[in-house]
Amino acid sequence: MSHPLPADAVFLPAGVTGLPVGAQHSVQRCASCGQLLSPLDAAPDCPSCGGLLEIIHRAPVDEFDAPLSANAIKHSFAQHCCALPMGHASGVWRFESIVMPGAGDAIVSHPEGNTPLLSRAAISRYTGCDGLLIKHEGHNPTGSFKDRGMTVGTTQAVRIGASAVACASTGNTSAALASYAAQAGIPGLVFVPAGKIALGKLAQTLSYGARTLLVKGDFDECLRLVQQASRELGIYLLNSINPWRVEGQKTIVFELLQQLGWHAPDFIVLPAGNLGNTAAFGKALREAHALGLIAKMPRLVSVQAAGAAPFARAFREDFATRYTVQAETIATAIRIGDPASWDRAVRAIRETNGLVISATDDEIIDAKVTIDAAGVGCEPASAASVAGVRQLVRDGIIGAGDTVVAVLTGHVLKDPGMLVELHQREDYPRANRPVEIDATVSAVEAVLRETRGSAL
Ligand SMILES: *Cc1c(COP(=O)(O)O)cnc(C)c1O
Ligand SMILES: [Zn+2]
Repeated sequence: MSHPLPADAVFLPAGVTGLPVGAQHSVQRCASCGQLLSPLDAAPDCPSCGGLLEIIHRAPVDEFDAPLSANAIKHSFAQHCCALPMGHASGVWRFESIVMPGAGDAIVSHPEGNTPLLSRAAISRYTGCDGLLIKHEGHNPTGSFKDRGMTVGTTQAVRIGASAVACASTGNTSAALASYAAQAGIPGLVFVPAGKIALGKLAQTLSYGARTLLVKGDFDECLRLVQQASRELGIYLLNSINPWRVEGQKTIVFELLQQLGWHAPDFIVLPAGNLGNTAAFGKALREAHALGLIAKMPRLVSVQAAGAAPFARAFREDFATRYTVQAETIATAIRIGDPASWDRAVRAIRETNGLVISATDDEIIDAKVTIDAAGVGCEPASAASVAGVRQLVRDGIIGAGDTVVAVLTGHVLKDPGMLVELHQREDYPRANRPVEIDATVSAVEAVLRETRGSAL
């Protein structure tokens, strides 16, 4: 089989021939062997070698088929910002031309994205980084960045006429799948590790109506099972190995670059579990750079939980070995021992001169309590990014004047069980214990006096 694309092609070269049928806008390519598939092929991975698939688009063109300049592309994104129809008001679909060009009527959008870029003195002080900005993906409709991947994945399910969709999940993917499948009217099936999913996520998944399978095993076993089931039962797989989910998650980066006026930050720091987001961020930066949207490459920093850090370990050895571990951490969203998007993520770290580090559960909780107490709030896994920034400032890798974007991946209410437990603890110095009082004003006054005292 001949492969008409150069291995390093970021976009489809003009005039390329020999592409599969239906590939006028985009093509799917195996990242391992280079095989090309139609954009409407439902295969979860490469039919030849089992490698991960990736999407290669034609670079944006004008109505005369001429390539758009960087400024014209930025202008088109800005226009779509406030445009109707609703699909384009989405922080994902405003970037349709480099996410899923030609999606048109198939789009299933909440809408999602358009999340804020925050600056909070208390969090900057905590990390020692004055130029710290927080990209809060917990503001998405189901409360995590997974909505950005899921709107595109579900749109693809509609395009190919899928009869059912499925995923394995540590919780947030299932909440997002359940919501978008309900909107699309497609039955959804989710595989979650029994007893290892945060309460808010389970509640959402059940409420949005997905069939929820509590698998007696960990996330890595759920993933193996759903992959086998999708192959044998013909269910469309919406895990993060799905290349269209990667396309949607790229928009976290496009949107934050747009919010920064296309001035790339020095660092982008994110929590890392299955490495889908690390891969998506790397692809977004590669494309933004190739299109001339940014002049320099930010350094990508992936932060794993110390108890689930096979990628951080491999990084220290220049990725010579692919490790797996038995994962254990309080941050359930990144409690993953055998990350699926490994190869894509290695490329992302290499191309951005990036770093992979780890944070202990104590460091993650401490960062989270700081983020929560600043009034921002996030779920435990999200705080790994802020813990990572603090570590890198301490180690002298991030300078005090650097611009750093830390991504918070999920909403504070995702894991209420952990929080209520933490804040009732007698032995935790930062616990905000609720106070039981008699129903009298003098009891309130006593509490008020004590609160004012401790605030001074
Ligand atoms: C999914 C998820 C992550 C991990 O992202 P990966 O793409 O699996 O590395 C981190 N935080 C939250 C809240 C998540 O839902
Ligand atoms: Zn292949």
